[in-house]
Amino acid sequence: MRYLSTRAAASDASGRKRFCEILLEGLAPDGGLYLPEQYPQVDDFTLASWRSLSYADLAFEILSLYIDDVPDADLKAICHKTYTPEVFGTPEIVPLRPLEAGLQLEALSNGPTLAFKDMAMQLLGNLFEYELARRGEELNILGATSGDTGSAAEYAMRGKKGVRVFMTSPNGRMSPFQQAQMFSLQDENIHNIAVDGVFDDCQDIVKAVSNDLEFKRKYRIGTVNSINWARLMAQVVYYFAGYIQATKSNAEKVSFTVPSGNFGNVCAGHVARMMGLPIAQLVVATNENDVLDEFFRTGVYRVRASADTHETSSPSMDISKASNFERFVFDLLGRDGDKVRALFHDQLGKSGQFDLSDVPAFKSARATYGFVSGKSTHANRLATIRDTYGRFGTMIDTHTADGVKVAREHLQPGIPMIVLETALPIKFAATIEEALGRLPDRPARFEGIEALPKRVQVMPPDAVLIKRYIADNVH
Ligand SMILES: *Cc1c(COP(=O)(O)O)cnc(C)c1O
Repeated sequence: MRYLSTRAAASDASGRKRFCEILLEGLAPDGGLYLPEQYPQVDDFTLASWRSLSYADLAFEILSLYIDDVPDADLKAICHKTYTPEVFGTPEIVPLRPLEAGLQLEALSNGPTLAFKDMAMQLLGNLFEYELARRGEELNILGATSGDTGSAAEYAMRGKKGVRVFMTSPNGRMSPFQQAQMFSLQDENIHNIAVDGVFDDCQDIVKAVSNDLEFKRKYRIGTVNSINWARLMAQVVYYFAGYIQATKSNAEKVSFTVPSGNFGNVCAGHVARMMGLPIAQLVVATNENDVLDEFFRTGVYRVRASADTHETSSPSMDISKASNFERFVFDLLGRDGDKVRALFHDQLGKSGQFDLSDVPAFKSARATYGFVSGKSTHANRLATIRDTYGRFGTMIDTHTADGVKVAREHLQPGIPMIVLETALPIKFAATIEEALGRLPDRPARFEGIEALPKRVQVMPPDAVLIKRYIADNVH
């Protein structure tokens, strides 16, 4: 299996890479995103044979279709080390929980940081450690976070050999729970940097450091952002696991609703569907930041300015542009890298938007790819949390509530709808209290974490000082 860039010219096969070459990379050199040359097809017999597998074995079967430069025995060991009941809370790893008839939640948020990002990041931690050891190299991950991504990365990389994490976050702006989750880590290889500024300042610092190519090379700076193919690939597995739990035979179809921001999660659903998983609809749920809903309704993709990006009560979906969306557009346009470059580099760069409403492939996108969409607001979120708790005694988080709200608008008779639960309510306690008049339950292992000693460096928003801090802490 080789990987190509979404902006590669079709005639140019020279830039194609193997899995371990792209594992530690972000964007392709031409600014595109990596995708496999083709999607491996899972036939009826194979899917049936996967029904009896454990999650770790299912992960191995799927990953081995995409990875041919890690020996099978090693890959299997990595899957088994990653997906354990101890780390993810249940033997099923991603159990389904019923709400009303025809609607269920798939629990993806019982990993170490209580958000679905653990599903991929925990695997990434083990893959990084393996590949770095094999090469005899080290990697220093530099990131910016306003919450879920940073903590998932830290819990995945803590104690891993060959990896250090330098995670910037806006000082005092994450919830007390999120700060406690990150800053209580005492591992030597985890560095929390609280920047006196806002999230954009953190991102600017990461960009400034990454643009200093000499520094980047000398200190082996890398990232773990959501465009990493390995993260997306790991997420494909739970679409298969959800399908298998919800059905008895492969003649049945299911639909998925996905609370979406950067389009990483639902893009994994698209990949699963392209592999032949019987998915009827992929429902993209957005919050007030409705870039994606607008596209699927109108064909116009219009990125927002920072000033037009709303701060909402489902903050992990507060995006101005969807960084993984280019992958879907590549498939939609018949994998034409020249067209993708013209849209994402030239047109978006110039005017901040493009319009596919007249493109025949867009008009048939719903039929061909199953995509539909919807939007949810703060008021919808509160009502959905209240309703779901009142009728079923199930407390859901604000992002999952956006998913449930939109899922209910797209139910089809006879087709089970699975809503991906992307975080637990405890992470967004203030909004839960607003909706229900009570605080969410806290898993026992998080009792009192706010009182633990904190390991964090407060710094001004200055890339030069942060480079010095990195240099001082890399030996
Ligand atoms: C990251 C995140 C999302 C959005 O996922 P994308 O892959 O960016 O679309 C939704 N909900 C929660 C809780 C998240 O942490």
